[in-house]
Amino acid sequence: MASQNMSGFGGHGVEGSLKLAVQRSGRLTEETLSLLHSIGLEFESYGQRLFSHCRNFPLSILYGRDDDIPDYVARGTVDLGIVGRNLIHEEGIDAEELLALGYGYCTLIVGVLRDSPIEHPEELINARIATSYPNSARKFFASLGGNPEIITISGSVEVAPSLGLADAVVELTATGSTLILNDLRQIHTILESEAVLVANVDSMKDPAKRANIERILMRIDAVRAAKRYKYVMMNAPETALDAIRAVIPGMKSPTVVPLADPGWVAVHTALEEEAFWESIERLRKAGATEILVSSLEKILL
Ligand code: ATP
Ligand code: ZN
Repeated sequence: MASQNMSGFGGHGVEGSLKLAVQRSGRLTEETLSLLHSIGLEFESYGQRLFSHCRNFPLSILYGRDDDIPDYVARGTVDLGIVGRNLIHEEGIDAEELLALGYGYCTLIVGVLRDSPIEHPEELINARIATSYPNSARKFFASLGGNPEIITISGSVEVAPSLGLADAVVELTATGSTLILNDLRQIHTILESEAVLVANVDSMKDPAKRANIERILMRIDAVRAAKRYKYVMMNAPETALDAIRAVIPGMKSPTVVPLADPGWVAVHTALEEEAFWESIERLRKAGATEILVSSLEKILL
């Protein structure tokens, strides 16, 4: 357990200083580290280090197994954790989900062999279920009034049905390809998951810690909002302004600057990525020309 033998990580920091646990090496690691760097935290993350200190924020980062992170947060070994929601659900811990982070998407599903006649999870309440998520599986079938035999396997759960070891699986899937590869068919979704930022309940009650947690939340919000928008600059005849304004749902009214050419203006605004191409087409129709588009780094409203 990483909670022992962490001298240097321990709790003698400045008032309000925070500890955050992240996955050391796995599916969430790369995006988690890049999120932390994108909010301006400076720290070393290379190699097999167990923890690192931020140079420019009162925060230490602990690198651990993802399975251990919910418990670290619940016990207060760390104040914050970034981990799949599926593991918070699995461990059933008391922690506050502060923010869904928009990566590490996956679903916890019930799957059976492709040729199985089973269509509904209710048909499995007395069956044998192979899973790496025994608590989630048990909870789910208990909610249907069932008590199936839960066979806990830590890897390659998907092969259990073809081996005759289980009648069904409760497994995580992102694209469904592993299911198909193993002749499995999804019959139910138990949980939609993504990486989430969770906090220890007592840390949230500590005013100094809470203030720093809120700084982190504000920064993550700013970076994530920026990803949703593009910055758009265009030139247009003044007469087209009303039509252009009607297209731009923008965050607020656009910035309009007169150009040297009489009767022409430059319009600056932010456009939501989702409807981006549609908006660009409508802007051109409305009379906009010389449209420049750039990415945004942060948005603070
Ligand atoms: P660790 O060594 O930290 O215990 P692990 O092998 O248990 O790692 P990963 O496979 O790296 O865990 O998955 C980490 C998290 O990534 C999962 O808990 C889940 O939230 C998310 N995830 C996203 N897509 C998938 C997927 N297709 N299969 C499994 N997990 C996924
Ligand atoms: Zn794990």
